[in-house]
Amino acid sequence: MADPAPPFGFHRDALGRACLGGAPLSELLAASGLETPAYVYDLDAIQDATSRLVSALGPGNLVAYAVKANSAGSVVRAVAEAGAGADLVSGGELQVALACGITPERIVMSGVAKSDAELDRAISLGLCAIQVESVEELPRVSARAAALGAVGRVSLRINPGVEIDSHAHIATGHDEAKFGILEQDLPAALEILRREASLSLVGVSTHVGSMLREPEPYLESARVVCQVALHCRASGHPLEFVDFGGGFGIDYGGEPADAPEVFARAALGLLAEWGLADLRLVVEPGRALVGPYGVLLTRAIQTKRSGGRHTLMIDAGMNDLIRPALYAAKHRVEPCDALPGALPFRVVGPVCESSDDFGEHPLGDAPSGLFVVRDAGAYGFTMASEYNGRALPGEISVRAGRVVKAAPSPGVAAWVTRRLEA
Ligand SMILES: *Cc1c(COP(=O)(O)O)cnc(C)c1O
Repeated sequence: MADPAPPFGFHRDALGRACLGGAPLSELLAASGLETPAYVYDLDAIQDATSRLVSALGPGNLVAYAVKANSAGSVVRAVAEAGAGADLVSGGELQVALACGITPERIVMSGVAKSDAELDRAISLGLCAIQVESVEELPRVSARAAALGAVGRVSLRINPGVEIDSHAHIATGHDEAKFGILEQDLPAALEILRREASLSLVGVSTHVGSMLREPEPYLESARVVCQVALHCRASGHPLEFVDFGGGFGIDYGGEPADAPEVFARAALGLLAEWGLADLRLVVEPGRALVGPYGVLLTRAIQTKRSGGRHTLMIDAGMNDLIRPALYAAKHRVEPCDALPGALPFRVVGPVCESSDDFGEHPLGDAPSGLFVVRDAGAYGFTMASEYNGRALPGEISVRAGRVVKAAPSPGVAAWVTRRLEA
């Protein structure tokens, strides 16, 4: 995906200063009153990206934003205002989505092990669908619905057995994965659905993983969904929707990825091809709507020269942004108020783990001051922890070049109190 034109997303101004949403990051940080490490989100860019996808999908279809990518209230409100619903994986995310103005009929709930409490809440609210990920989950939903005197609206999340070219930890569509129902188990699922009056089959879904760079692998699993949808209809289940999942990739500075609209148009084309254009199309993007439009700000603590290697220690660690440690992900690290230099530095965090390593970056002779870790708007704060007795990072939301929300870090004191309580 090409970098969006300023003021959307990350760019550098005429003075070479790193900017987000049209304003220099160093100024946004100062205006927020927060300390580093802190995430910064460009709400205009997030809203724009969401609007473009909502338009590409057209009326009646649903962009179900995967809240686990970035659950900051300002971000969820921005995607909701742009017309998106939500894809959730927990009762906590459900509370956030509702509080941010997303109505139940625009929410789908995924997850391989939903608790009884989560199912009860989803059923009583009448969510668009509970995405069932195993045959064994169906009688559970049915029993909870019957107890509530309600009907559980379910969709079958199909595991299409598609291998995507992605890191093993973000691939979910292969046979061994814990996610979804294999096609071979479909007859057993349909048998239960025939029997249970407290269940209504409203959709067929899939989600094969993340960081797809072009539509073809997306369509490969979507074809399996179409096939299953036709089969369900033939078995007497009048479906309302098909859901092809999320997984649209972004450019972390290596390879570009097609824009979400390209996936949307391809998906609509496929539905028409299969004679299923009367069904509502649901897509579940997370990363592509928020990843490029957020950054992590961090300060240099010191440099170290040892064994011929130059290392820069920063005040953000794997507890703040775990993607490099967890997925071998690459994020560009750049000085905020200077252009990248020539001399490569290995950038590491303060956490006592050798995987707390952000990789090698050209930073110049004596890197110091404020740095930006780019494309950190997705799976950044939502995966953060307090490991090593470190505070959770702050979060700053920007609109029209101004700070509109600054959520400070809960601080180390909060961590200390909690430890002493345990
Ligand atoms: C995580 C997740 C998504 C979003 O994936 P992205 O790669 O961020 O687009 C969509 N659907 C489900 C079920 C997920 O678990």
